[in-house]
Amino acid sequence: MAVPKRKTSKSARNMRRSHHALKAERSAECPNCGEARRPHHICRHCGFYDGRQVHTEKTETAA
Ligand SMILES: [Zn+2]
Repeated sequence: MAVPKRKTSKSARNMRRSHHALKAERSAECPNCGEARRPHHICRHCGFYDGRQVHTEKTETAA
């Protein structure tokens, strides 16, 4: 197995980890009910997407 020749310095380790931060999930307002909704996703609150009813509460419990 390949083994690193040198210990990774604190600087190199920290520079690598500079990209590890989590970003807050984006949200958009549902045009139908006004609830927060993920962009390009069906509205969890009313089941609307692209101006039409995509699924109802019945299909939600069945799935
Ligand atoms: Zn909605």
